[in-house]
Amino acid sequence: MATKAIYPGSFDPIHRGHLDIAAAAAKEYGKCIIAVGVNDTKTVLFDAPKRVEIAKEAVRFYQTYYAKDEHLDIEVISYQGYTVDAAIEYGCTHIVRGTRGAADDDNEKRLYYVNQKLLKIRFREDIEQVLFKASEQYSFISSSDAKKLCAGGQYILAMSYVLPPTHNELMKIYLERDFHQAFRENWWQGFAKHFEGRAYHNLSHIAYMINRLNIYHRQGAIFENILFLRQAIFYHDIKETEEASAEEIPGVSQRHRDMVMATKHLDGKPQNLSGDAQVIHDLDLAILFDEDNYTDYMFCVREENLKCSKAAYIEGRTAVLDRLIESIDYGIFPSEKREKAISLMKAEKAVLKLLP
Ligand code: ADP
Repeated sequence: MATKAIYPGSFDPIHRGHLDIAAAAAKEYGKCIIAVGVNDTKTVLFDAPKRVEIAKEAVRFYQTYYAKDEHLDIEVISYQGYTVDAAIEYGCTHIVRGTRGAADDDNEKRLYYVNQKLLKIRFREDIEQVLFKASEQYSFISSSDAKKLCAGGQYILAMSYVLPPTHNELMKIYLERDFHQAFRENWWQGFAKHFEGRAYHNLSHIAYMINRLNIYHRQGAIFENILFLRQAIFYHDIKETEEASAEEIPGVSQRHRDMVMATKHLDGKPQNLSGDAQVIHDLDLAILFDEDNYTDYMFCVREENLKCSKAAYIEGRTAVLDRLIESIDYGIFPSEKREKAISLMKAEKAVLKLLP
């Protein structure tokens, strides 16, 4: 008999642990429907249509890059009312939930009990409820912790919780506060819209740099002008070229221009960098030694260039990596980070042909 699973939850927003369970359920039952519950009594960050949109995009990213050859059948829907009724409506044979351990178990037992009674009244005890155990690596991940980390400015760590497109959605909400520290003006909406449709050079990349800047600052670093530096970080990728990006900075000065130009890496390392220009240069390239996030970075750069044929992408990306491997040099990070970056870039070169 054909089987089909429904995986209900709030998914506010969907995270890596959720996707892991949905993938396991799709493998086990042939199809998994991620069912986003509309529950008016719960306080949520994203409304139901947005949670569905975010989940769909995360599933697409997961299928394209994480499970490229697995052909997983995962659909996303939203539902109101009882899970058992949604399961019946969608013709599901199994209701799947996930558990990270004792803290989830009590809640899941309670839900199991209620669902079992509700199924009985509907003469549908043939629908089975199953509890999937979280994979070890995701067993400490929750949507609420991802949101708390973002609220605390820990944008980089939040990347380990959610997939890149979801992270960018979180940044639309949480990065705004840091932006106001840099500008104290009401420009955010107009600013943020420039990054729509970009998979790497987007708000997540800016957040990554701001998070590293804040850490460096707390460690006691001295800057020429940290306000200008923040402004240059926010604007350095807003347009197609660095030259044009700099001119978008409200009240642009030569100091801003020098900093934005320090993020131009295509002609090799910019020469004679000093002070804050060196800092922004290093922050922009810090992802290259970040072994925890490099794989997603690699996927996102490909995603941003999906309109290139695979052959053209491999050729162009190889040239970029060769230039960076040749010239990469950090001023503010420990010297072993350069070696790390070179080894990660060489590893990327070796797997370029496996990308979509
Ligand atoms: P709910 O508000 O219904 O608990 P969630 O979106 O928080 O919805 O979670 C949906 C389901 O996924 C729940 O069964 C939850 O226990 C499970 N879950 C949450 N986080 C993880 C994780 N890291 N690994 C596996 N399952 C998880």
